[in-house]
Amino acid sequence: MTRRRKIYEGKAKVLFEGPEPGTLVQYFKDDATAFNNQKRGVITGKGVLNNRISEYLMLKLAEAGIPTHFVRRLNMREQLVKEVDIVPVEVVVRNIAAGSISQRFNIAEGTPLPRSIVEFYYKSDELGDPMVSEEHITAFGWAAPQEIDDILSLALRINDFLSGLFLGVGLKLVDFKLEFGRLYDDNDQVRIVLADEITPDGCRLWDVKTNEKLDKDRFRRDLGGVAEAYQEVARRLGIMPEAGPRDMKGPATVQ
Ligand code: 5GP
Repeated sequence: MTRRRKIYEGKAKVLFEGPEPGTLVQYFKDDATAFNNQKRGVITGKGVLNNRISEYLMLKLAEAGIPTHFVRRLNMREQLVKEVDIVPVEVVVRNIAAGSISQRFNIAEGTPLPRSIVEFYYKSDELGDPMVSEEHITAFGWAAPQEIDDILSLALRINDFLSGLFLGVGLKLVDFKLEFGRLYDDNDQVRIVLADEITPDGCRLWDVKTNEKLDKDRFRRDLGGVAEAYQEVARRLGIMPEAGPRDMKGPATVQ
């Protein structure tokens, strides 16, 4: 068996060359990091769950007319995606104050925001992902003005769709992070598509009734029950892996 060429290894995923030109294989690891790599751990089974959860959400979004890089899930930890040129900007959409916006403006966590707020962060581990404005993005050439317009409108449509989807399974979508990429078609036409992943690693999801956190904040804040929280999200979405948690060698968080 020939070994696939590794294209890139990130904190939670590895990208390999895909079977056909223009495709990549996205492998989901159990590794977890927080606070710009200062906190590291392993959440057993996270990669399997995130592969499933992202597949489910990307397919639902595609049905709703959102263009994405997702092609199909290949196995427990891998999915086939279209190769895109990633826009080096993290797009955060917030509905309820939590995390950095609560700290920055001294707003109590859980306070609903007057309207959904979209923020941009420049993707740079070295700089700690600084917040940037559209001015920075266009001036430094990270994206063109039309691309930012497309990203903004897609991010808000994704927020509307996912807020409703999660509410339907008793979860509040507090905030989440998206990444977008440029997809070139056969005629060299380019368009912006949703890329990366949508999983509890990059979303805040709270139980509607109890406000219990069912996302990576359990890891970031040492709340325990991290793997169980990811399993609960998958269970509510109706997508627990075939053999259930046994597939994932038991819930455990090792630091
Ligand atoms: P905050 O700015 O409050 O730390 O994060 C806002 C939202 O974006 C949270 O749902 C958080 O999970 C997500 N987020 C922000 N930066 C990152 C990142 O670098 N990686 C991941 N996985 N999620 C992020």
